[in-house]
Amino acid sequence: MDTGFIDHERIFSYLKSARPPDAQETAAILAKARQLQGLDPAEAARLLLLEDEESLQALFAAALDAKNEIYGKRLVLFAPLYVSNLCNNECLYCAFRKSNDRITRRTLGQEEIRRETEMLVDQGHKRVLLVSGEGLGEAALGYSLKAIETIYSVKRGNGEIRRININIAALPVEAYRQLKAARVGTYQLFQETYHHDTFRRMHLQGPKADYLYHLTAMDRAMQGGIDDVGVGILFGLYDYHFEVLALLQHIRHLEETFGVGCHTISLPRIEPATGSDISLHPPHAVADADFRKIIAVLRLTVPYTGMILSTRENAQMRREAFSLGISQISAGSRTNPGGYANSDSGGQFSLGDHRNLEEVINDIVGHGYIPSFCTGCYRLGRTGSDFMDLAKPGLIKLFCLPNAMTSFKEYLVHYASAPTRAAGEELIGRMLSDIPDEKTREATKANLASIETGARDLYL
Ligand code: SAM
Ligand code: SF4
Repeated sequence: MDTGFIDHERIFSYLKSARPPDAQETAAILAKARQLQGLDPAEAARLLLLEDEESLQALFAAALDAKNEIYGKRLVLFAPLYVSNLCNNECLYCAFRKSNDRITRRTLGQEEIRRETEMLVDQGHKRVLLVSGEGLGEAALGYSLKAIETIYSVKRGNGEIRRININIAALPVEAYRQLKAARVGTYQLFQETYHHDTFRRMHLQGPKADYLYHLTAMDRAMQGGIDDVGVGILFGLYDYHFEVLALLQHIRHLEETFGVGCHTISLPRIEPATGSDISLHPPHAVADADFRKIIAVLRLTVPYTGMILSTRENAQMRREAFSLGISQISAGSRTNPGGYANSDSGGQFSLGDHRNLEEVINDIVGHGYIPSFCTGCYRLGRTGSDFMDLAKPGLIKLFCLPNAMTSFKEYLVHYASAPTRAAGEELIGRMLSDIPDEKTREATKANLASIETGARDLYL
C-alpha cells in the first residue's frame, strides 16, 4: 500500500514510545515552544498525552502567548459560500454524498451566486470561502472560475468581497494555474483522515476515494502557482494522535519540497449530517478537552500557520479556541447552496453556532480581540514564503494588528449598530498602544481617521 509521504510506521513508532512528560519535561518543552521556532513531532506527541490540570494550563498559556506574539490580538472573519451540493463521491460522513436521497440538491446559477454575495457584502463580510461538492464533472472548473468572477464583480454601497478562498475537489496542475489566474487566495482541501485504511473505508466511491491523488493535491496546487494552501483533518474518523502527527508530516513534506508549508490548518470535528449514520456516531469522536489540547499543541508546533475554526463548533468552544491559538473563524454561516437567501436546499452538516455576524463580533470585542476583515497581505503579494519570511520574526504583527483595526473600522462605520460601533471604537482606541512601533502606530491613526471621513480599503 502506497501512502506517499505519510509514513504510517514511523508515526506508530512515535506513538508507541511516547509517554506523557513530567512537570519538568513539560516546562522544558514549553520553554522551547515559547521561542516560536516550533516543536519536533516527538515533542508534539508527548504534549498530546498531557492530562494533569496544571500542565494543561501551562500548555494553554504558552499557546495563547504564541498566538498573541505572532499575530497580535486579532481574529480574522470570513463566511463560506456554498454553491453546489451535488456530489459524485461517497464520503460516509457527509450529507452531500451521492447516494443520500434525503436532501434537496441544488447548484446555484451565476445570478444566485451574485445574490448570495450581495447578502454577505451587506452584512459587512470581505472574505469568502467558496465551497462545493464534486458533482459537476467536466464542467466543474469552468463553473468555479465563473463563480469567482461573479463574486469579485459584486460592488454594493461601501462593500465588496476582497479575497476568495476556495475549498473544492483535488485537481490537476493546470486547473490550479487557472484558479490562481482568477485571483484565488488560499486553496483548501482536507485530507479528512491520513490513515490509509480508514480513508478507504470512509470514501467508498468517486474520485475522492483515491488516497494518493487526494494527498498530493497540495503539491499540484503549489506547482500550479498557488502559494497559500490550507490543509485539514476531519476529527472523529481516526485516532487524533495519529492524525496530528501525520498532518505534521504533510507540512514537513511541503516545506521540504516547496520551501513553505501550509498557510492554514482547518480543524473540523464531525457534526451530525442528514442521512449519515457515521456522523451521528463518529468512530473516534474527539472530546472537548482533547480538542483544546490539539489546538494548543498545533499552535506551538507550527506557530506561524493560521488555524481555522468554523461554525460547526458552538459559541463557547469558539470562544475558548481563540484563546488557544485559532486565528480565523467563520461567522453567520449557511452550509446549503442559496442559504443566505433562505433556500431550502440541503445543508452539509448542522451548525453549532447560529449567531449572526454582528453577534459574533460583539463577543470577540468583549474578549478584547479585534475582529479583522483584512486582505492586505494577499493583495500586496505577501503570500507563500514571503508571508512566512515576515511571520517568522514576528513582523506580521506590525501589519496584522493595524490592518485588523482599519478593516474593522470600516465595518463599524458602514455596517455596525450604534452600540457595536461604540464598543468597537473604544477597543481600537485602547489597542492602538499595542502597536509596538511608533511610525506604524501613527500611520494606523491616519488610516483610521481617513476611514471616518469616507476612505475605504486602507492597509499597510
Ligand atoms: N467536496 C470537497 C471535499 O470534500 O474536499 C470540498 C467541500 S466539502 C463540502 C468541505 C469539508 O466539509 C470536507 O472536507 C469535510 O471535512 C467537511 N465535512 C463533511 N461532512 C462533515 C460533517 N458531517 N461534519 C463536519 N464536517 C464535515
Ligand atoms: Fe462530496 Fe466533499 Fe461531501 Fe465528500 S465531503 S461527499 S466530496 S461534498
